[in-house]
Amino acid sequence: MARAKHDWVSGAEQALADAGYRRGGARRAVLELLNEQACALSVLEIEDLLRAGERRVSRASIYRILEELERLGAIQRVEIGQSMVRYETIGGSKHHHHHLVCDHCGVLQPFSDPELERTIARLSERVPLVVSDHEVVLHGACADCESR
Ligand SMILES: [Zn+2]
Ligand SMILES: [Zn+2]
Repeated sequence: MARAKHDWVSGAEQALADAGYRRGGARRAVLELLNEQACALSVLEIEDLLRAGERRVSRASIYRILEELERLGAIQRVEIGQSMVRYETIGGSKHHHHHLVCDHCGVLQPFSDPELERTIARLSERVPLVVSDHEVVLHGACADCESR
């Protein structure tokens, strides 16, 4: 679970190569950026951060790379409301966490809770499934939207 920082990047790059995709600067830049994040990013945020780091990757390329990575199981999408989607690594350097989503403004906050983890671990023993992973998303209104 706690793999080293570079393992996820090279693992994902290898998976892309095995699937027939060419190695390239754009893919590498997206992989490294995603691996540095504590939580999920939208495509626009990825585009902005790459540009701020002087790595210009077109939005179309970002969409394509994210689609490839999602198909290979290297990243997961976090759905926010009807139309907003964010992406984060699976098995990357970020800590295990879950999400609070504001369905009004789309704000996403990570949270973690040891009691929840213990409860899920106990539950996992009782369900007819060999549980390998879990995700929890709480939907609602953030403090800003609630007071509006
Ligand atoms: Zn997250
Ligand atoms: Zn909100």
